[in-house]
Amino acid sequence: METGRNVDRLFKRKRWLLTLTYASVMGCTLGLVGYAFDRIVTNLSYRSVEKEIASLASNIHDNVEYKLATPGKIPADLYARIPELCPIYLNCQTQWQQQHRHTLVNIDRHYASFIDTWGKTRATLGIHPNVPKPSLSSLENSRWDHFHDRMGKGYQQLTLEIHTPDNQVWGYLQVGRDLTDIHEYLNNIHLFLTIGIIASEFIVVVVSWYLAGLAMRPLSQSYQQMQKFTADAAHELRTPLATLQVIIENGRAEYQHLAPELTSWLDQIERQNIRISSLVNDLLFLSSLDRPDNKPNLEPCCLTEIVLDLVEEFAIPATAKSIDICSDLDLDAQIWIDGNSEQLYRMGANLVDNAIKYTPAGGKVAISLTQNLNDISLQVKDNGIGISDANKVLIFNRFHRIESKSSPPQHSTGLGLAIVKSIVDVHGGQLTVWSQVDKGSIFTVKFISSLKIN
Ligand code: ADP
Repeated sequence: METGRNVDRLFKRKRWLLTLTYASVMGCTLGLVGYAFDRIVTNLSYRSVEKEIASLASNIHDNVEYKLATPGKIPADLYARIPELCPIYLNCQTQWQQQHRHTLVNIDRHYASFIDTWGKTRATLGIHPNVPKPSLSSLENSRWDHFHDRMGKGYQQLTLEIHTPDNQVWGYLQVGRDLTDIHEYLNNIHLFLTIGIIASEFIVVVVSWYLAGLAMRPLSQSYQQMQKFTADAAHELRTPLATLQVIIENGRAEYQHLAPELTSWLDQIERQNIRISSLVNDLLFLSSLDRPDNKPNLEPCCLTEIVLDLVEEFAIPATAKSIDICSDLDLDAQIWIDGNSEQLYRMGANLVDNAIKYTPAGGKVAISLTQNLNDISLQVKDNGIGISDANKVLIFNRFHRIESKSSPPQHSTGLGLAIVKSIVDVHGGQLTVWSQVDKGSIFTVKFISSLKIN
C-alpha cells in the first residue's frame, strides 16, 4: 500500500494513462476514417472530372471527325460550323476572355486543341494552358495526363487520336480542364475534416477523462475502504492489547509464587503481545501517514543530531552482534531540514535496524550525511546479505519479507521499509536502494536542500 498522497498521484497517473489510451485509440480511428473518407471523395471527384472530359471529347470528336478529310488540315466550313474554333494563326483568346458566351466548350474551365501528326497545333477551343506539350509518340488511341502550369494550376487532359473518313491518322484532339474548382472543393473538405477531427479529439479527451474517472472510482473507493479498515482494526486492537499487557504484569506479580511454571508462559504471552502491539502501532502510524489531510508539523530538524543519536542508540545491539557501527559526519557544519524530527528519527532507526539485522557478525554498518549543492543525502550502508534484483522492487511493499536461507529468522513484520518510504514521501524526499547479494546494501534518502547549514 502507498501513502495517501502517493495513492492520489497513482490514481491520477492511471486516470491520465486510461484517458490517453482511449484518446489515442479514438484518435487513430478518427484519423483512419478521415483519411479513407478523404481518399474516397478525392477519387470520386477526379473520376467525375474524367467522365466530364471524356464526354466532352467524344462530343467534339463526333461533331468534327467526319469533316476532317485531309490529315493535319482543318476545312474552312468547320470554322463556320463551330464559330468558337480558333485557327492557330489568330489570337482568339482575348476575344474569348471578353465575350464570356456559351460555346461548345465551357471556355472558363475547358479547352480543346487539334494537333497534327507532327505535333503542331492547328486550331483551339478555349484557352490552352501554357505548358510544354507532352510527347504524343507513345500514344495508343488515347491517354490521360495530369499536370500543372507555371502558376501551379492543375489540369486534367485527355488526348485522342482522330482519323480521316478513309481511316488515315488526321492528328490528335486534346481536351482538358482546369482543376482549380475541384482543388478548392477538396481543400474545403480537408479543412472540414481537419477541424472536425481536432474538435472530435478534444471532445474524446474530455469524455475519456470523465469515463476514466468513473472507471477508477470503485477502485479508489475500495482502496480507501481497505485503508480505513486497516486503521480501524489497528485502533480497535490497541485497547485489548494494552489490557492484556496489564493482566500479564498483574498475573506475574500475584500468582508467580503459586505456580512458578507460570513465569515462562507469561513471558511467552508477553513476547507475542509486544510483537502484536508493535505491529498494531506500525499499522496505526502508517494509516496516520496515509491520511490525505495528514500534514506533518514541519519544524527545523538537525539531521546531524539525529544521526549521532542513532549511532548512540544502536551501538549496543550492534556490539552485541559484533558489528562495527560508524558515522561519517561533518560536525562543524550541521545539516538541517524542515521536517518532523520524530518521523525522521524513526526513518533512520528502521534503516539502521535493518542494516544490523541483515548483516552477519563481524560486518560493518556506516551512516553518512552529506550536504550537496541541491540536496541532502543520508546513506545507510552495510556489507550484509544484500537483496536480489527481483526483491529490490518489492521490499517497500507492506508486509513484504524475503525468506532466505542465508538470513537467520528475524523478529520482523515487513512494515519497516514501508514506513521509511511513507516518511520520505511525506517529507518530499526520494528513497533509493543499491544492493548486491552477499555484498551488502546502501539505502539512500535524498531531501531537497532548503535549509541552512550551521
Ligand atoms: P522487516 O520488518 O522484515 O525488516 P522491512 O520492510 O524493514 O521489514 O524489510 C523488508 C525486507 O527487506 C526484509 O525482510 C529483508 O529481507 C529486506 N531488507 C531490508 N533491509 C535490508 C538490508 N539492509 N539488507 C538486506 N536485506 C534487507
